[in-house]
Amino acid sequence: MILIFLGPPGSGKGTQAKRLSERIRVPHISLGDILREEVRLETELGRRAKEHMNAGRLVPDEMTIELTRKRIRQEDCRSGFIIDGFPRSAAQADAFDRMLEEDKLKLNRVIYFNISEEAVVDRLSGRRSCRNCGAVYHVKFNSPKVPGKCDLCGGELFQRPDDKEEVIRKRFEVYEKQTRPLIEHYAKKGKLVEMDAAKPIEEVFHKLLNVLAFATAP
Ligand code: ADP
Ligand code: AMP
Repeated sequence: MILIFLGPPGSGKGTQAKRLSERIRVPHISLGDILREEVRLETELGRRAKEHMNAGRLVPDEMTIELTRKRIRQEDCRSGFIIDGFPRSAAQADAFDRMLEEDKLKLNRVIYFNISEEAVVDRLSGRRSCRNCGAVYHVKFNSPKVPGKCDLCGGELFQRPDDKEEVIRKRFEVYEKQTRPLIEHYAKKGKLVEMDAAKPIEEVFHKLLNVLAFATAP
C-alpha cells in the first residue's frame, strides 16, 4: 500500500498518517520530520534547510528528492508506506513518479486533505509537538491530559518556530503556488481522493478507512 497525503500545512496529514500507520502497519514517512531531525543534529543538510523552513519556504527540491529516495528504499518500506509532505512541487512529483517506476512500485492513492486558510491558521497556531517522541497535540482540539506534557512519554511540548501566524500565512501561500497544482497531476492519473479535512479527527479517520477499504478491494 503506497499512499501520498497531500494538502496544506495544518490540514491534519501527520495526525491521520500516524494513526493509519499503526492500523495498517506500514511506516509513516514525514519529510518535515526528517528535515527537523537533520536540523536538530546540525548536519550540513540541516543547516542549509533550516533558514528555508523557518521562513516558511520549501527547501530545495534536490534535498527532499534524495532524502525520499533513500528512505523509501529502506527495508521497512517493502510492504508500502504513507508519505506525508512529499511531493510538494512539480519537480518532486515527477521525480517521485520516476522513483516508483524504477523500483516497479505502484502508487495506490493520493489523499487530498481539503481545508480553508483560516482553519489552518487556527490549527497551526495551537499545535504543540513533543520534543521527545514527536507526538502532535492541539491546545483546544486535541489537548494533552496535562498541559505542556506528552500523554505518551511525558516529554515536554513545544511550539514549532514555523507555527507563528506570519510564517503560517507564508506556508499557505507557498502551498497554493507550488503544491496545489499537484492535485491536478494526480487527478489526471485517476489516483486522487478528496477528504473534507475540516471535520473532527475521528470523522476524518473513519472516512479514510472507508476509502482505503475500497482502494484495496479486489
Ligand atoms: P499537518 O501534518 O497536515 O501539517 P497536523 O496533523 O500536524 O497537520 O495537524 C495540525 C494541528 O491540527 C495539530 O495541532 C493537530 O492536533 C490539529 N488537528 C489535526 N487534525 C485535526 C482535526 N480533524 N480537527 C481539529 N484539529 C486537528
Ligand atoms: P511540515 O512538517 O510538513 O509542515 O514541513 C515543514 C517545513 O519543512 C516546510 O515548511 C518546508 O520548509 C520543509 N519541507 C517539508 N517537506 C518538504 C518538501 N517536500 N519540499 C520542500 N520543503 C519541504
